[in-house]
Amino acid sequence: MSTDPNCIFCKIIAGQIPSKKVFEDEDVMAFHDINPWAPVHLLVIPKRHIVSMESVTPDDRALMGKMMVLAPKLMADAGVTGGFRQVINTGRDGGQEVFHLHMHVFGGPRPWAKG
Ligand code: IMP
Repeated sequence: MSTDPNCIFCKIIAGQIPSKKVFEDEDVMAFHDINPWAPVHLLVIPKRHIVSMESVTPDDRALMGKMMVLAPKLMADAGVTGGFRQVINTGRDGGQEVFHLHMHVFGGPRPWAKG
């Protein structure tokens, strides 16, 4: 499994940095974002160090599918009933700040809603 010793999310996977973990298996991990933008704000990450969506290959189809399909289960487990949003930021212009691929899952009443 490829990891980066300087990567904050690799350190979370390794248990070197604490997290509020909600799910883990051999491929992926999910935990609460430290600076939530929504009532429930989770991050779903691959355990393998993948820098961003720009680095994924067709071999990652199953992994990406697993991350995508995990979100509704996690939101249901968190008691979110009104829907949610899944977002992946990619690269500088995509607003990515942590360069270990991650999917945000935002649930609960929408802080981003207009009006
Ligand atoms: P990005 O802008 O898509 O790269 O989002 C990175 C996210 O990681 C931000 O929402 C941060 O709040 C979150 N984050 C950074 N460090 C930690 C941490 O140690 N634990 C949990 N979330 C973190």
